Amino acid sequence: MLKVENLVVRYGMIEAIKGISFEVHDGEIVTLIGANGAGKTTTMHAISGLLKPVSGNIYLNDVDLTKVPPHKIVSMGLAQVPEGRRVFAQQTVEENLILGAYSRTDAAGIAQDMEHVFELFPRLKERRTQLGGTLSGGEQQMLAMGRALMAKPKIMLMDEPSMGLSPLLVKEIFHIIQDINAQGTTVLLVEQNAKMALAIANRAYVLETGKITLEGTGRELASSEQVKKAYLGG
Ligand code: ATP
Repeated sequence: MLKVENLVVRYGMIEAIKGISFEVHDGEIVTLIGANGAGKTTTMHAISGLLKPVSGNIYLNDVDLTKVPPHKIVSMGLAQVPEGRRVFAQQTVEENLILGAYSRTDAAGIAQDMEHVFELFPRLKERRTQLGGTLSGGEQQMLAMGRALMAKPKIMLMDEPSMGLSPLLVKEIFHIIQDINAQGTTVLLVEQNAKMALAIANRAYVLETGKITLEGTGRELASSEQVKKAYLGG
Protein backbone atom coordinates (compact mmCIF):
# COMPACT_ATOMS: atom_id res chain seq x y z
CA MET A 1 0.00 0.00 0.00
CA LEU A 2 2.78 2.44 0.97
CA LYS A 3 6.28 2.01 -0.40
CA VAL A 4 9.17 4.33 0.42
CA GLU A 5 12.23 3.92 -1.81
CA ASN A 6 15.67 5.42 -1.24
CA LEU A 7 14.27 8.49 0.47
CA VAL A 8 16.69 11.34 1.12
CA VAL A 9 15.61 14.49 2.99
CA ARG A 10 17.84 17.46 3.82
CA TYR A 11 17.47 20.56 5.93
CA GLY A 12 20.01 22.84 4.23
CA MET A 13 23.36 21.09 4.68
CA ILE A 14 22.03 18.52 7.15
CA GLU A 15 21.00 15.19 5.67
CA ALA A 16 18.30 14.07 8.09
CA ILE A 17 17.19 11.03 6.05
CA LYS A 18 19.93 9.17 4.23
CA GLY A 19 18.28 6.92 1.68
CA ILE A 20 15.76 4.79 3.56
CA SER A 21 13.37 2.22 2.10
CA PHE A 22 10.44 0.53 3.78
CA GLU A 23 6.96 -0.76 3.09
CA VAL A 24 3.58 -0.82 4.77
CA HIS A 25 1.21 -3.48 3.46
CA ASP A 26 -2.56 -3.26 3.39
CA GLY A 27 -4.07 -3.91 6.83
CA GLU A 28 -0.80 -3.81 8.77
CA ILE A 29 0.39 -1.83 11.75
CA VAL A 30 3.99 -0.92 11.00
CA THR A 31 6.13 1.01 13.42
CA LEU A 32 9.23 3.08 12.95
CA ILE A 33 11.12 3.31 16.21
CA GLY A 34 14.15 5.41 17.00
CA ALA A 35 15.72 7.82 19.46
CA ASN A 36 15.35 11.59 19.54
CA GLY A 37 16.50 13.10 16.29
CA ALA A 38 16.65 9.80 14.38
CA GLY A 39 14.46 11.28 11.65
CA LYS A 40 11.04 9.83 12.44
CA THR A 41 9.08 13.06 12.13
CA THR A 42 11.03 14.05 9.03
CA THR A 43 10.03 10.76 7.39
CA MET A 44 6.36 11.33 8.26
CA HIS A 45 6.44 14.85 6.88
CA ALA A 46 8.01 13.67 3.64
CA ILE A 47 5.23 11.08 3.21
CA SER A 48 2.42 13.53 3.90
CA GLY A 49 3.97 16.08 1.55
CA LEU A 50 4.93 18.70 4.15
CA LEU A 51 8.60 18.29 3.27
CA LYS A 52 10.01 17.83 -0.20
CA PRO A 53 12.59 15.04 -0.44
CA VAL A 54 15.88 15.60 -2.26
CA SER A 55 15.48 12.21 -3.92
CA GLY A 56 13.63 8.95 -3.66
CA ASN A 57 10.05 7.89 -4.23
CA ILE A 58 7.01 7.40 -2.04
CA TYR A 59 4.30 5.28 -3.59
CA LEU A 60 0.75 5.09 -2.27
CA ASN A 61 -0.81 2.29 -4.32
CA ASP A 62 1.43 3.01 -7.31
CA VAL A 63 0.96 6.81 -7.26
CA ASP A 64 4.19 8.67 -6.51
CA LEU A 65 3.28 11.05 -3.67
CA THR A 66 6.40 13.16 -4.21
CA LYS A 67 4.63 14.50 -7.30
CA VAL A 68 1.27 15.17 -5.61
CA PRO A 69 0.43 18.44 -3.74
CA PRO A 70 -0.12 17.88 0.04
CA HIS A 71 -3.84 18.76 0.07
CA LYS A 72 -4.50 16.12 -2.60
CA ILE A 73 -2.67 13.48 -0.59
CA VAL A 74 -5.40 13.57 2.08
CA SER A 75 -8.13 12.96 -0.47
CA MET A 76 -6.11 9.98 -1.75
CA GLY A 77 -6.69 8.30 1.59
CA LEU A 78 -3.66 9.22 3.70
CA ALA A 79 -4.14 11.16 6.93
CA GLN A 80 -1.54 12.23 9.47
CA VAL A 81 -1.90 12.68 13.21
CA PRO A 82 0.89 15.16 13.89
CA GLU A 83 3.33 15.10 16.79
CA GLY A 84 2.30 17.35 19.65
CA ARG A 85 -1.36 16.90 18.61
CA ARG A 86 -1.92 20.35 17.08
CA VAL A 87 -5.66 20.59 17.56
CA PHE A 88 -7.36 23.89 16.75
CA ALA A 89 -7.41 25.51 20.19
CA GLN A 90 -10.16 28.05 19.47
CA GLN A 91 -12.52 25.55 17.82
CA THR A 92 -14.80 23.15 19.65
CA VAL A 93 -14.30 19.40 19.60
CA GLU A 94 -17.06 19.09 17.03
CA GLU A 95 -15.63 21.85 14.82
CA ASN A 96 -12.20 20.21 14.97
CA LEU A 97 -13.72 16.95 13.78
CA ILE A 98 -15.60 18.62 10.95
CA LEU A 99 -12.36 20.28 9.82
CA GLY A 100 -10.84 16.81 9.54
CA ALA A 101 -13.45 16.00 6.90
CA TYR A 102 -12.62 19.02 4.72
CA SER A 103 -11.70 16.87 1.74
CA ARG A 104 -15.17 15.22 1.76
CA THR A 105 -18.56 16.35 0.52
CA ASP A 106 -20.87 13.55 1.73
CA ALA A 107 -22.69 15.29 4.62
CA ALA A 108 -24.55 12.17 5.75
CA GLY A 109 -21.34 10.12 5.79
CA ILE A 110 -19.55 12.85 7.73
CA ALA A 111 -22.26 12.89 10.43
CA GLN A 112 -22.14 9.12 10.63
CA ASP A 113 -18.36 9.09 10.99
CA MET A 114 -18.53 11.71 13.73
CA GLU A 115 -20.79 9.38 15.69
CA HIS A 116 -18.29 6.59 15.02
CA VAL A 117 -15.46 8.77 16.42
CA PHE A 118 -17.60 9.44 19.50
CA GLU A 119 -18.04 5.67 19.94
CA LEU A 120 -14.28 5.18 19.85
CA PHE A 121 -13.70 8.16 22.15
CA PRO A 122 -16.67 8.61 24.52
CA ARG A 123 -14.74 11.35 26.32
CA LEU A 124 -14.86 13.49 23.21
CA LYS A 125 -18.60 13.06 23.01
CA GLU A 126 -19.03 14.43 26.52
CA ARG A 127 -16.89 17.40 25.49
CA ARG A 128 -18.24 18.04 22.01
CA THR A 129 -18.86 21.75 22.64
CA GLN A 130 -15.64 22.34 24.62
CA LEU A 131 -12.80 24.31 23.00
CA GLY A 132 -9.89 22.17 21.78
CA GLY A 133 -7.34 24.25 23.67
CA THR A 134 -9.00 23.49 27.02
CA LEU A 135 -8.79 19.68 26.66
CA SER A 136 -6.22 17.67 28.63
CA GLY A 137 -3.19 16.29 26.80
CA GLY A 138 -4.74 12.85 26.43
CA GLU A 139 -8.02 14.28 25.20
CA GLN A 140 -6.18 16.41 22.64
CA GLN A 141 -4.43 13.26 21.42
CA MET A 142 -7.83 11.58 21.05
CA LEU A 143 -9.16 14.61 19.20
CA ALA A 144 -6.17 14.64 16.83
CA MET A 145 -6.77 10.95 16.10
CA GLY A 146 -10.51 11.51 15.70
CA ARG A 147 -9.89 14.40 13.36
CA ALA A 148 -7.63 12.26 11.16
CA LEU A 149 -10.28 9.51 11.09
CA MET A 150 -12.83 12.03 9.79
CA ALA A 151 -10.93 12.06 6.50
CA LYS A 152 -11.86 8.36 6.22
CA PRO A 153 -8.24 7.41 5.55
CA LYS A 154 -7.09 4.08 4.17
CA ILE A 155 -3.77 4.64 5.92
CA MET A 156 -3.13 6.71 9.01
CA LEU A 157 0.27 8.08 9.99
CA MET A 158 0.69 8.66 13.72
CA ASP A 159 3.60 10.60 15.12
CA GLU A 160 4.37 9.68 18.74
CA PRO A 161 0.83 9.37 20.04
CA SER A 162 2.17 8.35 23.47
CA MET A 163 4.20 11.52 23.98
CA GLY A 164 3.55 13.21 27.31
CA LEU A 165 0.75 10.84 28.36
CA SER A 166 0.47 8.83 31.58
CA PRO A 167 1.10 5.06 31.28
CA LEU A 168 -2.61 4.37 31.69
CA LEU A 169 -3.59 6.74 28.89
CA VAL A 170 -0.83 5.37 26.68
CA LYS A 171 -2.39 1.93 27.09
CA GLU A 172 -5.80 3.31 26.19
CA ILE A 173 -4.48 5.11 23.11
CA PHE A 174 -2.66 1.98 21.91
CA HIS A 175 -5.81 -0.09 22.35
CA ILE A 176 -7.68 2.41 20.23
CA ILE A 177 -4.96 2.26 17.56
CA GLN A 178 -5.52 -1.51 17.44
CA ASP A 179 -9.29 -0.97 17.18
CA ILE A 180 -8.86 1.50 14.33
CA ASN A 181 -6.63 -1.01 12.57
CA ALA A 182 -9.06 -3.87 13.18
CA GLN A 183 -11.77 -1.78 11.54
CA GLY A 184 -9.75 -1.65 8.33
CA THR A 185 -7.33 1.28 8.52
CA THR A 186 -3.67 0.56 7.85
CA VAL A 187 -1.37 2.27 10.38
CA LEU A 188 2.15 3.66 10.21
CA LEU A 189 3.19 4.49 13.75
CA VAL A 190 6.26 6.46 14.73
CA GLU A 191 7.26 6.00 18.36
CA GLN A 192 9.92 6.51 20.97
CA ASN A 193 7.96 4.17 23.23
CA ALA A 194 9.43 1.11 21.53
CA LYS A 195 7.98 -1.36 23.99
CA MET A 196 4.36 -0.44 23.35
CA ALA A 197 4.85 0.12 19.63
CA LEU A 198 6.53 -3.27 19.07
CA ALA A 199 3.81 -4.99 21.09
CA ILE A 200 1.08 -3.93 18.65
CA ALA A 201 3.06 -3.84 15.38
CA ASN A 202 2.98 -6.52 12.71
CA ARG A 203 6.34 -5.28 11.47
CA ALA A 204 8.86 -2.70 12.57
CA TYR A 205 11.90 -0.75 11.44
CA VAL A 206 14.62 0.82 13.58
CA LEU A 207 15.75 4.26 12.43
CA GLU A 208 19.14 5.55 13.59
CA THR A 209 20.46 8.94 12.48
CA GLY A 210 18.60 8.83 9.19
CA LYS A 211 19.21 5.17 8.31
CA ILE A 212 17.25 1.98 8.82
CA THR A 213 19.47 -0.36 10.82
CA LEU A 214 17.11 -3.22 11.64
CA GLU A 215 13.79 -4.61 10.48
CA GLY A 216 11.58 -7.51 11.39
CA THR A 217 8.27 -8.48 12.91
CA GLY A 218 7.25 -6.63 16.07
CA ARG A 219 7.97 -9.79 18.04
CA GLU A 220 11.41 -10.33 16.46
CA LEU A 221 12.55 -6.81 17.23
CA ALA A 222 11.13 -6.87 20.74
CA SER A 223 13.32 -9.89 21.50
CA SER A 224 16.42 -8.65 19.65
CA GLU A 225 19.37 -8.02 22.00
CA GLN A 226 20.32 -4.92 20.06
CA VAL A 227 16.85 -3.42 20.39
CA LYS A 228 16.57 -4.42 24.03
CA LYS A 229 19.84 -2.68 24.85
CA ALA A 230 19.16 0.50 22.95
CA TYR A 231 15.41 0.97 23.25
CA LEU A 232 13.91 -1.27 25.88
CA GLY A 233 16.14 -0.44 28.83
CA GLY A 234 18.38 -3.54 28.64
P1 ATP B 1 12.04 13.34 17.94
O1 ATP B 1 11.66 12.01 18.47
O2 ATP B 1 12.95 14.09 18.86
O3 ATP B 1 10.91 14.14 17.42
P2 ATP B 1 12.73 12.52 15.25
O4 ATP B 1 13.23 11.14 15.11
O5 ATP B 1 11.32 12.77 14.90
O6 ATP B 1 13.02 13.03 16.72
P3 ATP B 1 13.36 14.58 13.37
O7 ATP B 1 12.54 15.62 14.02
O8 ATP B 1 12.87 13.98 12.13
O9 ATP B 1 13.70 13.43 14.40
O10 ATP B 1 14.83 15.20 13.11
C1 ATP B 1 15.85 14.51 12.39
C2 ATP B 1 17.08 15.41 12.29
O11 ATP B 1 16.80 16.55 11.47
C3 ATP B 1 17.56 15.97 13.62
O12 ATP B 1 18.96 15.96 13.62
C4 ATP B 1 17.03 17.39 13.64
O13 ATP B 1 17.87 18.25 14.37
C5 ATP B 1 17.04 17.75 12.18
N1 ATP B 1 15.96 18.72 11.87
C6 ATP B 1 14.64 18.54 12.05
N2 ATP B 1 13.93 19.61 11.66
C7 ATP B 1 14.84 20.52 11.20
C8 ATP B 1 14.74 21.83 10.66
N3 ATP B 1 13.57 22.42 10.46
N4 ATP B 1 15.89 22.44 10.32
C9 ATP B 1 17.10 21.84 10.48
N5 ATP B 1 17.24 20.60 10.98
C10 ATP B 1 16.13 19.93 11.35
